[in-house]
Amino acid sequence: VMIKTEKVLHLRSSRGRKVRVVREHYLRERVPCSSALCQAECQNEGKVLSADLTHYVVPDAGVVCDFLEVLEFRELQGVVFTQTACQAAQQSRGRSRLYNRLRSLLKDPRHDCILFANEFQQYSFCLREKGESQEKWQTRCIYHSAVWYYNHLAGLRPVVMITEDLEAIAEYSSLNSEVYVISTQVEYLRSFCPDLLAAQELYCSISQAMQERESESTEREFADHLPAEVLEAGIKSGRYIQGTLNVNKHRAQHEAFVRFEGSASKNTELNSDILVCGGKHRNRAVQGDVVAVELLPVKEWQGRNTALTEGLGEDKTGDETQSQPMPTGRVVGILQRNWRDYVVTFPPWEEVQSQSRNSQRILVTPWDYRIPKIRISTQRAKDLQDHRVIVRLDSWESTSLYPNGHTVRVLGKAGELETEVQTILVECCIYAPPFSEAQLKEMPVNSEENPWKVDPSEVNARLDLRDTHLVFSIDPLGCEDVDDTLSVQVLPGGKRLQLGVHIADVTHFVQEGSLTDLEARARATTYYLADRRYDMLPAVLSADLCSLLGGVDRYAMSVLWELDAQSLSVCKVWYGRTIIRSTYQLHYELAQALLNGEQVEVPELAQMEQAERDQRLTELRQALELLTRLARHLRAQRDKGGALELEGVEVRAQLDSDRNITALVPKQPLEVHETVAECMIYANHWVARKIQEHFPHQALLRRHPPPRQEFFNRLIDCAKTRGFSIDTRSNKALADSLDQAADPLDPLVNRLLRMMATQAMSNAQYFSTGACPEEQYYHYGLALDRYTHFTSPIRRYADIIVHRLLMSAISAEKESGPNTHLVPNKELEELAQQINSRNRAAQIAQKQSTELFQCLYFKDKDPVTDERCVADAVVYSIRANGMLVFVPRYGLKGAVYLKNRDGHVLSLKRDGSCVWQPGSLQRYPDKISSTTSIGTHTFNVFDHITVRVSVQSSRCHSDSLCLEVIANRPHQTPQAECHPAPRGRSELVQEVVRLAEEASQQANENGRAPKLTREEREFRQSRKPNLYSLLVEIGELALLDLAACEQISAGSQACTASA
Ligand SMILES: [Zn+2]
Repeated sequence: VMIKTEKVLHLRSSRGRKVRVVREHYLRERVPCSSALCQAECQNEGKVLSADLTHYVVPDAGVVCDFLEVLEFRELQGVVFTQTACQAAQQSRGRSRLYNRLRSLLKDPRHDCILFANEFQQYSFCLREKGESQEKWQTRCIYHSAVWYYNHLAGLRPVVMITEDLEAIAEYSSLNSEVYVISTQVEYLRSFCPDLLAAQELYCSISQAMQERESESTEREFADHLPAEVLEAGIKSGRYIQGTLNVNKHRAQHEAFVRFEGSASKNTELNSDILVCGGKHRNRAVQGDVVAVELLPVKEWQGRNTALTEGLGEDKTGDETQSQPMPTGRVVGILQRNWRDYVVTFPPWEEVQSQSRNSQRILVTPWDYRIPKIRISTQRAKDLQDHRVIVRLDSWESTSLYPNGHTVRVLGKAGELETEVQTILVECCIYAPPFSEAQLKEMPVNSEENPWKVDPSEVNARLDLRDTHLVFSIDPLGCEDVDDTLSVQVLPGGKRLQLGVHIADVTHFVQEGSLTDLEARARATTYYLADRRYDMLPAVLSADLCSLLGGVDRYAMSVLWELDAQSLSVCKVWYGRTIIRSTYQLHYELAQALLNGEQVEVPELAQMEQAERDQRLTELRQALELLTRLARHLRAQRDKGGALELEGVEVRAQLDSDRNITALVPKQPLEVHETVAECMIYANHWVARKIQEHFPHQALLRRHPPPRQEFFNRLIDCAKTRGFSIDTRSNKALADSLDQAADPLDPLVNRLLRMMATQAMSNAQYFSTGACPEEQYYHYGLALDRYTHFTSPIRRYADIIVHRLLMSAISAEKESGPNTHLVPNKELEELAQQINSRNRAAQIAQKQSTELFQCLYFKDKDPVTDERCVADAVVYSIRANGMLVFVPRYGLKGAVYLKNRDGHVLSLKRDGSCVWQPGSLQRYPDKISSTTSIGTHTFNVFDHITVRVSVQSSRCHSDSLCLEVIANRPHQTPQAECHPAPRGRSELVQEVVRLAEEASQQANENGRAPKLTREEREFRQSRKPNLYSLLVEIGELALLDLAACEQISAGSQACTASA
C-alpha cells in the first residue's frame, strides 16, 4: 500500500540560491527498520543494528551536520541515521566531504549504525507546516522517527534522541517516557558513555571551534574563491588550470607548485608545473588540495629557488635546473579539499601568554612542514603545552590568516618515543588499532583444549599432498609467519620433474566481506616500523593456522609444474587447493650448508636412528640440489630477458652481525636466497598468466614501468668519473653495464651506482587489467610480461585478491563451482590504487621510523668526544653548495655543506682537517672545489671522507641528522670494518628501545605520573619491539630510496620475496 503526498523541498543551488521544489512523495507502511530486535518481520537487508545494546540513539540533523566526527567513534553503537538527517548533511556547507564521511560510515560494517528511510514511512513522516522553519520541521520528523522506532520494536529498548536544540528538548522530552530527548554532550555523552572521554573532548573541541568562528572579524586577508560553476567554465575554456597543490617543504611559506592535470587542449605549451609564490597567491589552498589557478602575466613569472636546502637526497630530477622564470600563477578557487588528520605541537605556555590576550586561541604548528599553522580554540592549552595532538581543519575564511581547526586526540609529550612513533603513523594515515572482539569472533579456535583440525570435507575437496610430497620451507631462522613452502621431485619414469610452490590458504579463513576481510583490506599490508610491526591479519592466522609450520597439517594454495627433466620446459601446470604437511622448516644457512655438503644437524632428524637419518638427509639434499638447478635455469631465462639486480650480491656481502643475529643476516650472499626468490617469482608469474587469461578485464596484476631516461643522467655522469659507461637503453643493457661498473678496490662504487639506478626507477604498481593497455603490463625490473603477487597472502592484501581470482578461474574451468562474484574492473582499479597508496605509506612510515631511531641514537652522544659520532662517508652527488654522502656504518644518506650561513667555505689544512674560511666554491658535474687563502681543495664523487654526525633538534617537527666534514680522508674506526651497516642499525634500535624503557621505568618509580595518562595509554597500542622483523623486513631499506626497493630486492629480502 502506498500513499501519495506532496513534499515541498527547499534546496540550495550550488550558487547559493534557494530553490523551492515540489515532489510527489510516496509513503509506505512497511519500511525496513534494520534492527535485529525487529518484531514485525521487516525485510532487513545488509547491516542491522545489534540486539545486544542497552538503547538506540537517533541524532538530530544538527548533531549529524556538526558533530558527525563524534558519532564516528566505533564505541558509539546502535546509531539510527534518519533520512531527514542525512539529507540535511547533504545540503549543508562543505557538503561533499561531510556527506561522503556519512556514507562511508553507513557502509562500514565495523560501525554499528544504519540508515532509516523515515520520510517514506507512513507513520513517521510529517508534512512541513506553514511557517515552520526547515530546522524545526527536521527536528519534528526525527522525533517522530524515534517514537516510531520505539513502538516498532515493541518497546524492547529505550530510544534516545540527541539534539543541540534546547527548545526541542523542552518541547519533546516529556511526551514519551521511553523516548528520551536529551542534549548531546551534557546528558548523553556524560551519562551514557562516561568512559569515552575522547568523544567528550572531541565534542568540546568542535563546539568551541564553532563558537569562535561566529565571533570572527570581517577584515579580508585573502581574495574570495570563485564559485564552482565559474571555475568549471574557466577550466573548460582554458582560462584556469586545474591541478593538485604541492608545497615545497623546504620553503613551505613561499613556494608551491601546481601539477597540471586534465586535458592539455588549451594549454599545450604548458608542460611544466605552475609556480605559486607566497601566501596571498596560494589563497588558503593547503598541500594536496585540488585547485584552479590562473596564470599571471609573463612579466610577473618567477624562477624557483635553487639554493640547496636540507634533505636534498630525494629529488629525482637529476641536476637542479637554473632559476629560469617559469609559469607562475595564483589560486582562484578550490575544487576539492584533501584535508586529513594532522599532528601538531602546542606551544609552551609562556609563549601562549605572551603572544595573545586571548589565551584560548592558540596557534599550533603542524609536524608536516607543508601545512600552515592552525588556529585552535581550547581551554586546555596549558595542559597541552609541548604535547603532540591530532587536529582536523574546519574552515579557512578569507578573513583569517590561518585556518581554524579543532583537536581530536592527544598523542603524548613531544620527543618521547611512543609519541613520535604514533606521530609517524598518523602523518602516514596509518590506522591499525588492535583487532576488535567482533573481528576476533570470526577467527577459528586453536587452543590446547580445543585444537584446530583438518575438516574431513576439505580433505575431499582438496588435493592431499601429505603422504605424496616432500614439502619444506626455507626462511630466516625463527620466522613465525611462513607463507610459502616448496616441493620438488622426479616423477615416475624419470622423464619429468614436478616443482611445487605451496602458499598459505588465507582466503579459506578470511571470507570476502567479513570484518576481518574489511580490516585487512583497509590496512592492505602489514606495517613494519623500526621497532615493531602492525599485522594485517590477527595472530591466530598469521602466526598459526595460516602459517605453514613444520609437522602440522595446513591448507594451501598450490601451483604444480610438470617440467621436462632435460630441457626444463613446462609441460603442464596445475593450480588448486591442497593439504600439506611441511616436513622441514629450514632456515637459509642450514639449507645452504646442506647444499654445500657440510655436516649439519637438522632438528627434525635429531631423534632418528643413524641409518634412517642418513637416508632422509640424502633425500632432502637431493631435493635442494634439484631445486637449485631449476632456479638457476629460471634465473638464466629471465637474465636473457634483461632482469635487473640492482642492489644485489655486493650489498649482502657487506652484511655482518654479532652473535644474536648472525643467523638472520647471512655473512655471505647465499645462493639459496635466490633459489627461493626465483621459485616465488615463477609462481607469481604463472598465476598472473592464469588470472589474466581468464579475466582479461578484471584481474589484479603488478607492473613496473620503464624509468624515464632523464632520471639516469646523474647515474651516467657519476659512472663516467670512474671510466664506466652505463647503457640505459634497455633493462638488459642497464643490468649488463651495472655488472661491469665495479671497482675492485672499492666495492662501494658499484653499490652506490646501483643505489642511483634504484633511485631512477619508477615504482611497481598494482592495477586492474581492464584499466591499462596490455603493452603496459610489463614488469621492467623482473623482465616478465605479466606479473602479480600471490606468494605472501599473510602480509599483503593484493595476494588475497589474487587467490580469490585464481579460485574463480579454477571453478569457472570446472564449471562445477558456483560462478563466484567478481570485482568489476572499475572497483578493482580503485582497490589497486588504494593498495598502492597504502604501500607507499608503509614505506614512508618505515623510512621515517628508521630515521627517528637514528636520531634518538645520536641524541645523547656528544658529537665532539664520542667515537660513535665519527664515521667514514662516500660522496655520491655534487650540489651547488655541498654534496650528498652515504655513511655505510649506519646506512644513512645526507647532505654535507661546504658553505655556511656566514658565507664561509670549508677548506683543508695541510694535515687534512677542516676549517671555515672566507672563500668561494666552484661546482662541476663530478666534483666541487673550495678556494680560500689556504689553497684550493677538490672533493670528487666516490671520495671517502670523514664526517661527524650530530642531531639537529626540532620542537615541532622531526629531529634530523646533521653531517659535517671533519677530514678529507677515509675514517677508520677499530670496528668500522668488521661492523658495517646492519649491525650499526640493529644495535642502534636496540639501544634506543632500551633507553626509552629505562626512562619510562624511572618515571614510574619516581611517581612522576605524566599528565593525560589515560589518553596516552589509550593510544599506545604498540607491540613489543621485534628486532627480528626489523632485520628481515627493513633489509636494506635504509640504503635505498623509496622507489622500487622491492623489485630489486627480490633476491635479498629473505623472508618475503616481495618482488
Ligand atoms: Zn522492523
